[in-house]
Amino acid sequence: MNIVTYPNDILTTRCQEFNFNFQPFDPYQVSQEMIHFCNDNKLVSLSANQIGHPYRMFVLLGSETFACFNPRVMMADGEEVLLDESCPSYPGVSVKIKRPTEVRLRFQTPSGGIDTKRFHGLSAKMVLHEMDHLEGIPFYNRANRYHRELALNKRNKLLKHSIKERKEHDRIIATGFSGVII
Ligand SMILES: [Zn+2]
Repeated sequence: MNIVTYPNDILTTRCQEFNFNFQPFDPYQVSQEMIHFCNDNKLVSLSANQIGHPYRMFVLLGSETFACFNPRVMMADGEEVLLDESCPSYPGVSVKIKRPTEVRLRFQTPSGGIDTKRFHGLSAKMVLHEMDHLEGIPFYNRANRYHRELALNKRNKLLKHSIKERKEHDRIIATGFSGVII
């Protein structure tokens, strides 16, 4: 399993509903594979289009680990908190983003059953970051103009030196990055 990285149309195209009657992939198997991949690569969440499946599905890891199919945000509220985000599909970009800290999500489980969960703080932020993936929205588009331009200028400089870019991404992860890689 490999992570799709920007630029790639699958990252910037709205994902399709996962049809449980005509399953494009085995929902249990792919959920487990994605969870293992996250564990192996120290990721806390991952959406299906990041591994090449253009369907509305992501996995979340934490105190509880599970897969969400066809998720819908029923409520996003609470104090908005500014926090650095970084994403393996957009190497070299680390940017401050303000997001709500309370989210209620309705989704289908791998069996197709319907579930609803509430998320607080960091996990709410993870859910909203993954929802952006499913909409085909690069996460840094959520940042204000100042923070976005700062981050993209830095990324563009790194792209001119692609080897350095990888090193820079590793450096961000290894040192001083107090945000979340999602
Ligand atoms: Zn991401």
